[in-house]
Amino acid sequence: MKNSFHLNTKIIGLLGHPIKHTYSPFIQNIAADLKNLDYIYLPFDVPSSNLKNALKGMIALGIKGFNVTIPHKENILQYMNNVSEEASIIGSVNTIVNDMGKLNGYNTDVNGILETLSPYKEEIYGNDVSIVGAGGAARAMIYTLVRHFKPKNIFLINRTEQRAETLRKYFYEKMRYEGFKTFELFPPELVDIFRDSKLIVNATSIGMYPDVDDAITTLEDSFCEGQIVFDVVYNPPQTKLLKIAASKGATTIDGLKMLIYQGAKSFELWTGEEMPIEQINKALKLYLAN
Ligand code: NAP
Repeated sequence: MKNSFHLNTKIIGLLGHPIKHTYSPFIQNIAADLKNLDYIYLPFDVPSSNLKNALKGMIALGIKGFNVTIPHKENILQYMNNVSEEASIIGSVNTIVNDMGKLNGYNTDVNGILETLSPYKEEIYGNDVSIVGAGGAARAMIYTLVRHFKPKNIFLINRTEQRAETLRKYFYEKMRYEGFKTFELFPPELVDIFRDSKLIVNATSIGMYPDVDDAITTLEDSFCEGQIVFDVVYNPPQTKLLKIAASKGATTIDGLKMLIYQGAKSFELWTGEEMPIEQINKALKLYLAN
């Protein structure tokens, strides 16, 4: 991995709080090395109270780009000079490009979700889907599913139901999607809602390192064969949720493919180069195995 810097080394990085769970520096720095690009990717732990100052610093220091993670993806939108059409519809930015002092916002989570769920397109089409969460990841998930997978209903479940309700109204206005039903986590009928869903998505940070014993549900009867359970959490890749779902015969998908493909699109936006996905995939698997 990168161990030398030059006068012209370009800085890219990650803005979030907390960020101890992230693998993005590993992925992006290896990609830059493999492509022989003079970039370094650094993690910046920035709480919400310092977000605006961090962006001023980005411009002042000429930092080329940032990924954006919890909890800033929605709040950061107001500080962008331009926002891509997708990020604008989604209402969340996960990638910033600093174009000579103008901040351009994008949402590359969509690419990660599309690549991950494309093999299951026919199964999802016209069926019911449950999404737990109403933050940045949930927004990108809803947009991608509604635009590309056309589910019948989306059961949107969130700790703060009001936030789920806000998303229901938001996506009706933006995409005219009428299939939402919202619930507060944990609704008494959770088992039935999940059992009726072809796809269940955890789009919260529940189960993420270091709280690896947490899960959106531990009720085994929520899961069965023929279901697809997608956890966007990628650290650890095998979350408690996925272990329980797999034990009941569901098809499980971890967050690593989404992570790599959203990162690949961000890399392309910053450097203009394609990320060497296969090599990154192998390197990440090796890193996680040790
Ligand atoms: P966010 O915007 O901060 O939203 C967090 C969501 O999680 C909210 O719905 C929040 O509920 C819920 N939540 C957090 N802690 C909770 C708890 N203890 N109990 C119940 N609900 C809780 O974050 P985000 O950007 O959407 O990210 C969410 C997760 O997705 C993170 O783990 C992130 O690393 C992961 N992610 C992965 C990828 C990938 O490429 N695999 C990409 C994006 C995000 P409230 O509304 O009630 O606060």
